[in-house]
Amino acid sequence: MTEKLPLIPYPSGAVAMLGGTFSKPSRLVIALDPSFDAECVLLYVREQLGMEAQEGGQSPDLIITAAADATEEQAYRLEVNPKECRIEAITLQGVFYAVQTLRQLLLAYPEAVPCCRIEDKPALLWRAFMLDVARSFCPVEEGKRIIDILASFKMNVLHLHLSDDQGWRIASESYPKLGEGESGRYSKQEIKDLVAYAQARHIMVIPEIDMPGHFTAALASYPKLSCTGGPFTIPTGEGIFSDILCVGKDEALSFVKQIIEETASLFPAPYIHLGGDEIPLDRWVDCPDCQKRKRVLRLSDEKALLRWFLNEMTSYARGLGKQVILYNDYVDEGYDKKIITQVWNPLLDASALTHPVIMSDYFHTYLDMDHTLLPLPVVYRYGKQLQTQKYSSLYGSEFMLWTEYIATREERDFHLFPRLIAGAESFWTQEGQHDYRRFMHTFAKHGSAYLSSDAQITPKKQWNTSSIVSAFARYKRRRRVKRNSRKAGISLS
Ligand SMILES: [Zn+2]
Repeated sequence: MTEKLPLIPYPSGAVAMLGGTFSKPSRLVIALDPSFDAECVLLYVREQLGMEAQEGGQSPDLIITAAADATEEQAYRLEVNPKECRIEAITLQGVFYAVQTLRQLLLAYPEAVPCCRIEDKPALLWRAFMLDVARSFCPVEEGKRIIDILASFKMNVLHLHLSDDQGWRIASESYPKLGEGESGRYSKQEIKDLVAYAQARHIMVIPEIDMPGHFTAALASYPKLSCTGGPFTIPTGEGIFSDILCVGKDEALSFVKQIIEETASLFPAPYIHLGGDEIPLDRWVDCPDCQKRKRVLRLSDEKALLRWFLNEMTSYARGLGKQVILYNDYVDEGYDKKIITQVWNPLLDASALTHPVIMSDYFHTYLDMDHTLLPLPVVYRYGKQLQTQKYSSLYGSEFMLWTEYIATREERDFHLFPRLIAGAESFWTQEGQHDYRRFMHTFAKHGSAYLSSDAQITPKKQWNTSSIVSAFARYKRRRRVKRNSRKAGISLS
C-alpha cells in the first residue's frame, strides 16, 4: 500500500503497514490493563467509536496495555492486526488519542481497516483554541460542540476570554451586577458543566479575566472601580478604550482579588489568564489615587505601576495554586519570571523573551480574519515554523477567534473550518512529517466525516486566495497593528 493513512493530525512517529485487514466487530470486547479506569475507556469507545463495548471476555478485539517504555503522557502506540487492535499508553489521555486515531481509521475504512502500526506523540504539548465569549456570548451547548471538535483532532486546551470592554460573561457571588442584563452570562453551574465535559475529553479549560484594560463592562456595573467614577456604557464594535481599572483605589484591588479567587475556585486548571494587553495609561496619569499609589511605592512611572499591579496579581494567583498567563504587550525583565507570556503581536521579537511563551501570532492564528488575510497554507505552516524556531521555553500555541463581528454558529464555522483543523495538525505533527498536499487530500476525502456532520466547512471557492489582494490586505493590517500598539504604549522591537 503506497497511500499514506488518511489521518488528521498525521502521526509524528513511525507508521508501518503490516498487510491484512481488521474487520469492525458488532460489539467490542476490551482487555484492559487495571491501571486504566475502565469506565472512562468504555465511554471513549461508546462515544468516539459509536460502538457497544464490554470489558473482559473471550478473544478481545481491543487490548489496552500500560506502555513500559513510554515517558510522554500524551504519547500512544496503536497496532491494528487481523485479530485485534492494540493500544499502548501510559495515561488515559494517551489512550484517548489512540481511540481518536482508531475512530478516523474506522470512518475511512468502514469495511476493513488495513493493518498497521502507529507510533505517535504531539510536537507541541499545549495545543489551544481561544474563544472570545466576551464580545459575542457562546451558549454552553455550542461550547460543547466546539469541545467535541477540538478533541477529535487532539487539541487539548480551550482558553475562554470571559471579560472585555464589550461584555462580562461569568456570574460573581460577590459582585452580582457583573454581566447583569447582558446578552449572556455563564452561571457557576454552567461553567462546572462545561469544564467537566471538556475534562472528559482531555481538554483543559483556561479562564481569562482581562485586566486592568479591556475593563469597560466591569466599570459599567461598578463605576467606582475606575479613575473618574464614570458613568460608563458598554461599547460595541472593536477598539482600545481609555477607561481602565483604577489601581490607586484599595477597593478596586479587593475587587480583582475576589474575582481571581472566585474564578480560580471554579476552574481546576493550574493556570489563569489575566490578559494584560492594550492598556492606555492616560487615566492613571490624571488620577490622584493612582498618582498617590505610584508615590507611596516609589515607582518611576505608570508603566512601573502597571508592572507592580500585574506582579501583585500574579503572586496572589500563585497563592491560590495558579500560574498566570499574560499577553506579552508589556512583559519585560521586571515581571515575575513564572509568568507565561502569550505572544500575539507580530511586531515583537518573541525569541528574545526569557519568560516561557505561548505563541499566537496575529498573522498566523487569528481565525477571525477573513480567509483572504489568513489563507489555509499559512495556518498549516505555523506549527512547523514554531518547531524550528528557538525560544527560551515554548509552551505551545493557540488559535484565536475574536468575536466583535462573529456572533452566530454559521459565522463561527465559516471562520474555523477548515483552518482550525489544519492548525490542529500543524501543532500536533512533528516537523518533518507535515505535508500540506497530503493534508488537503485527506481533508477533501474525509474532512466532513471526521469533523462530524453538524459543522459547516467553508467551501474552497469562498477562501478567495488571490495573492495580490491578500498581500495588500495584510500590509494594511500590519499598519493597523503598529498604530494600535503605539496607541497602547507598547514598545516595539
Ligand atoms: Zn486611578
